[in-house]
Amino acid sequence: MSTEEQDIFKDVLPKLMGTIRAATALGAQDVNFYKSVDSNISQQIDKRGMNLLTITNDLLRTASSQSSPVDSVRFGQENISSESSWNPVSNVIDSIFEKIDFNFDQLNKKQTGGEQKQYLEDGNNSISNEQIQRIEKPQLKFKVPVDNSEQEPFRPKITNKVNALQPWESVNKLTNPAPIYEESVEIVDPPYYAHPYEFEIDSQPYPDSILKKAEPIPPQDWSSTTAIWVDTVDGLNEMIEELSKSSEIAVDLEHHDYRSYYGIVCLMQISNRDKDWIIDTLVLRDDLTSLNKVFTDPNIVKVLHGAFMDIIWLQRDLGLYIVSLFDTYHASRQLGFSKFSLQYLLDTFAHFRTSKKYQLADWRIRPLPKPMLAYARSDTHFLLYIFDQLRNKLIDSDKLARVLFDSRQVAKRRFEYTKYRPLSTNLGSKVSCPVMAANPSEPWGSIMYQYNVPSFKRAVVEQLYKWRDLVAREADESVRYIMPNQLLVSLATLESPVDVGKVLNVPSYVSEHVRRNARELAELIDRTLKESEQNDWALVDKWNNSSKAQVEEQNVDVRDVNGLLETLLSNSSALFDGGPLLSDRSSLAIPEVRETRNYTYEFTSQGIKKHDFGKESITLKHKLWQKLCEVDGIRSIAEEELESESGEEHEPSEATESTGASSSNERPKSGQKVLFSKDEDINPDELIALRKTNKNSKRNSNQLVQYNEPSVDYANADKILIDPKKSDKRNKKRSFDPYSRDSAGPKPAKRKKVITGGKTSTYKLKQSRLKNK
Ligand code: AMP
Ligand code: MN
Ligand code: ZN
Repeated sequence: MSTEEQDIFKDVLPKLMGTIRAATALGAQDVNFYKSVDSNISQQIDKRGMNLLTITNDLLRTASSQSSPVDSVRFGQENISSESSWNPVSNVIDSIFEKIDFNFDQLNKKQTGGEQKQYLEDGNNSISNEQIQRIEKPQLKFKVPVDNSEQEPFRPKITNKVNALQPWESVNKLTNPAPIYEESVEIVDPPYYAHPYEFEIDSQPYPDSILKKAEPIPPQDWSSTTAIWVDTVDGLNEMIEELSKSSEIAVDLEHHDYRSYYGIVCLMQISNRDKDWIIDTLVLRDDLTSLNKVFTDPNIVKVLHGAFMDIIWLQRDLGLYIVSLFDTYHASRQLGFSKFSLQYLLDTFAHFRTSKKYQLADWRIRPLPKPMLAYARSDTHFLLYIFDQLRNKLIDSDKLARVLFDSRQVAKRRFEYTKYRPLSTNLGSKVSCPVMAANPSEPWGSIMYQYNVPSFKRAVVEQLYKWRDLVAREADESVRYIMPNQLLVSLATLESPVDVGKVLNVPSYVSEHVRRNARELAELIDRTLKESEQNDWALVDKWNNSSKAQVEEQNVDVRDVNGLLETLLSNSSALFDGGPLLSDRSSLAIPEVRETRNYTYEFTSQGIKKHDFGKESITLKHKLWQKLCEVDGIRSIAEEELESESGEEHEPSEATESTGASSSNERPKSGQKVLFSKDEDINPDELIALRKTNKNSKRNSNQLVQYNEPSVDYANADKILIDPKKSDKRNKKRSFDPYSRDSAGPKPAKRKKVITGGKTSTYKLKQSRLKNK
């Protein structure tokens, strides 16, 4: 860098730092509140906001790689809170990084005479938003209409089994799991249709060829070949004919999940040593089961990278299963590479530089633009060459068996509807459901936590969450298309009385469905607010009356008090006011593990007396902790924490691997620090605070309970808590990531038993009803 350039940076950097600081400080303020207080301020803020947007757009245009008309990059104000509106920004940043990469490579080559790299052709005709909005929903043309009703467990989409060891008739039936006991809680999992090829996956041997080292076979030349587009049954049959003669093939899928409730497979890429095929799975959706002839043939190795979702999508949409899977992601892990992404493998073993640009593209688009076709093809074109090299390395280091084992676990994963989600650890680890909330009975809990919603809003969040789910199923749209979380939270924070105007004017992007149903939503929110307010008061009254009466009588049945507190804890959405406790995460420290004891408390006119009931099963405080974790969604966060650890790459995470034998024992990992602290750190006054206390000073809750003694087995504490320092990360809006959503699937170890209890009885009830029929 010349000194001149350095001088420029000297001036710019401090200003940039100042700007970032100011922006961060502003972000922490409730700007909308200030705007509502003073119209003058409001106007000024809006004006400055527009100025900033203009500057941002200027910057984006300058940095953009696009030579097309000036306004092709525009970052708008209308819906800054919607995820897609940030796309122009991230696209530009991506392309800057790619340019940097490219220049580094060129420099490197000049200096060292290094390896010649190939690049994914960069499509400068990027796909416009309007183009995407014009896409007709492909679901409308499906021969078998999409059914989101979950009336029965997911049924495999096949009617016969090719390459079967176990006949179709013996697997095509509903299985009713027997009760199991986990930590002395009885769990009865819902009925399910088994994975039709589970037995074959486990017992069919891989072909001998995979066990021997061999000279890697280079791929066909990239730039002089193209893929065969398959969108007819004839084309499909021809492809199958050729694939049947291959001893290994590479497979990948592209998926879309914004304008669909469960998501839809849009594309399948297959390569053998000679050719690449790209299959239009929107058109051939109901014709592809014939591919099982190849996919379940144990003598044809199917090479996929990070197949844990592909396996789910294949069976859910296309009725396809894979026997003899080789997952290059698991190979990367066993070989201890620094990154586990396909991008890394392509770069390192095929000298091909790909771009992430199209990973999140709308794959429903037809005809597929050239750069998207090229991207899709590159996902499988080089994979067999990479496989050759990884296999050799695995044989050298004696790790092949382990990778084949891990791959089998992936192939055995089963898709299931959320409603029939297994609760026990042994089944849960093999299943993937569309919604894998850590707390299945209150999946909205993690939204409450992520957006810091005060707990007295729980009922509204719940109602909105349920409304959104229903509408999404009916319209076959994703829940985030119907009502993004940010919008849900904005709606939930409205104060009574709520009317249409308030709904339409929330400080978030208002989605089409919310706009159309504003009246219904206003009524729903208003009704829920009023009801939950009444419930709050009823609970407060109940508590006050009974404790007063008991104190007056001076003859307290301590067990009643105990029971009442439990009722309060388990029934009340209002008890935890989200005040000091929930916002100050440092107070969420868990007591040391000491002996298991059970105390209960007696209220007298002199104060509170403590009674020791010896070693009963569970103490109040433990329950309180469970309640807190539930309220706070801490468990779900802890689980997500684990997932996000596996690195910045968008790749199957550590957690998704828990089906593998050893990886599940390795947790918790270093990133998941657990804070233990002394019992005294818990201030009982903070733990329980009735939210209306300041309205009526007589209703003082401080007399409620005192926690003097530690209690209970906290052996699982490390699974409950996360480092509070990390919690600020949670408040940020996270970009949608179906992988992380789903990868909650295969790691169910931290399930709350309180909830399994409830679910258990549900299914028992159902089962007995079924029997009575
Ligand atoms: P891939 O195997 O990388 O081609 O990804 C297959 C599908 O997974 C894509 O079509 C996307 O729908 C989804 N996907 C891939 N990467 C991401 C990501 N970073 N975030 C969200 N979805 C992704
Ligand atoms: Mn893939
Ligand atoms: Zn792909």
